[in-house]
This record gives sequence, C-alpha cells and structure tokens, in this order.
Amino acid sequence: MTDLVSQAPRLPKAGETIHGHKFFIGFGGKGANQCIQAARLGAKTAMVCKVGKDFFGDNYIQNFKDYGVNTDFVGQASDAATGAASIIVNDAGDNAIVIVAGANMLLGSEELHKALPAISHAKVLVCQLEISPQTSLQALRMAQENKVKTIFNPAPAIPDLDTDFYRASDVFCCNESEAELLTGSPVSNVEEAHRAGQELLKRGCGSVIITLGPQGCVVVEAQGSASRHVQTTSVKSVDTTGAGDSFIGALAFYMAHYPTMPLEEMACRANQVAGVSVQTVGTQTSYPLKKHLPAELF
Ligand code: ATP
Repeated sequence: MTDLVSQAPRLPKAGETIHGHKFFIGFGGKGANQCIQAARLGAKTAMVCKVGKDFFGDNYIQNFKDYGVNTDFVGQASDAATGAASIIVNDAGDNAIVIVAGANMLLGSEELHKALPAISHAKVLVCQLEISPQTSLQALRMAQENKVKTIFNPAPAIPDLDTDFYRASDVFCCNESEAELLTGSPVSNVEEAHRAGQELLKRGCGSVIITLGPQGCVVVEAQGSASRHVQTTSVKSVDTTGAGDSFIGALAFYMAHYPTMPLEEMACRANQVAGVSVQTVGTQTSYPLKKHLPAELF
C-alpha cells in the first residue's frame, strides 16, 4: 500500500477543493511494514505480494530492494493499480482515508505456488488481512504443512473470522480493537485483554498476543501457564503509526533467530523495538535498525 498523505487546515466537504500545506508519499501496508521491520533487525526476508504495473508499484519494489528484501515473489498486475491509501489529515490531527486495495486482492493460489520454494524453506511466515482472506489462509496452511512457524495478524479485523485461521496460527497477534471485534467483548485494559486472549486461544491457535500500546502486551500460550502481562517502559510517542507492525516484524525476527527463546521473552524484546518506533515520525522509516538498538536485544 502506498500512502498519499495531504495535510490541510481542515477536511474538505463534498464537492469542495481546498489548499493543503504539505503532501508526501509514504510506503505502508501491514505486511510490507512487518517485513521491513524484520529486515531492519537483520532477518533474511522475502515478500510475497502483488503491486500494479505502475509508478507506485515500481517505486515500492525499489523500496523493498533498498531494505534488502527479496522481491522474487512480488508480482506486478497490469489490470489493477498498486494498493493506495489517500489520506487527508487536518491540523487537529483528524483524518479521512480512502483505501483502495487494488493489486493486493489479485494475489492468489498461482502466486503462492510460485513462492512455495521460499515459503517452505522459511523459518517464519507472517500473514495479515490486507490481501484476500482465502489467500492468507492458504499461505498459512502451506507454511504449516512445511513445518514453518506462522504468525497471523488479523488486521484489518473482520467479524466472524473463520476458525481455520486460528488453527493455522502458531501465534495469533492482534491489538485491542481487533481483539474486541473478534471476541465481541470490550478490551480496554489488561484484565480484559487477559480474558480476550483466553477466549481467542480456545479457538485453536498455539498462542495469542494482544498488544496494548504503552502497556506492552498480553501473552497467552496453549502449552504453558496462565496469561501473562508483558509490561514495557512507556515512552512519549510522537507517531504511533505502524507500531503494531513494528512489534510483529520484531517478533518474527526473534522467532526465526532464537527459536528456543520463550515467547514471553520475545514479546518483551518486541515491545522494546516497537517502543523505539513510536518516538520518530513516519512508519517504515521510524523502525529501528539493529545497530541502533542495545546489544542485549540480540
Ligand atoms: P498502530 O495501529 O498505531 O500501528 P497498534 O494499535 O496495532 O498500533 P499498539 O498496541 O498501539 O499497536 O502498539 C504496539 C506495540 O508498540 C505495543 O505493544 C508496545 O510494545 C509498543 N508501543 C506503542 N506505544 C508505546 C508507547 N507509548 N510506549 C512504549 N511502547 C509503545
């Protein structure tokens, strides 16, 4: 997804044209953000996705290459544009956003089969819901069949998520609002997150992580003790966009590089990585590089 961001004094009304004061293009999309955070920590990464055969698609492929992400499985569709989010932000910080998924929705079985050599040799596969849900589920199953660990991030959340997604997830990782939508119960504090985590775990995943912004996250494992709150040092955030993706990218990195590390410890370290990302403006550009993090995180 390419973010096209206009900053203006206010949001325009229907039929109105107004002057804005700043425009910028940003690289976004949950899967790409997560992949790039993992790459910035030193993971060997490949992206399986589809962009358009257009300026934004070409630019995005170059962006992946700049971060060292393998783009052998990034397809370019000629019948759909690169996914784009047109975002208008007013001076009060409110926004209006139109998202057009475009080429993302054209990623299907054929592309997954081409990517099988990479998927089957990976240590971890990470999926979200910004592509068609069936494609995500198929990728998760392909990974499981090849004994590759899976992280599933049910975002943007859809109500009545098929239970097969839970069964195909070694780690089911979401934020509070997604947990709320999936369980149908409020998730606005640690206690409620513990309850939601237990509820989601019952649906068949290996473990559940619910991120809680400055409060860190809650970790619930099928094989283990009770649900645990993994606290973090709360920092003053400048821009939290993509914090959840930074957390998931870091988690994938730790799962790949330290497979025997307890999940709680990985979550603790992912908290610290994501905590750095909120202290700088931007999404992928705010994600810390390995060299800028304390050695004890590695
Ligand atoms: P977004 O939608 O903005 O990408 P999210 O709602 O998916 O974020 P959050 O739960 O807000 O994700 O944050 C993800 C992780 O980022 C948290 O679990 C935590 O580790 C870290 N984090 C976020 N905000 C802070 C903060 N103010 N201080 C420290 N860590 C933070």
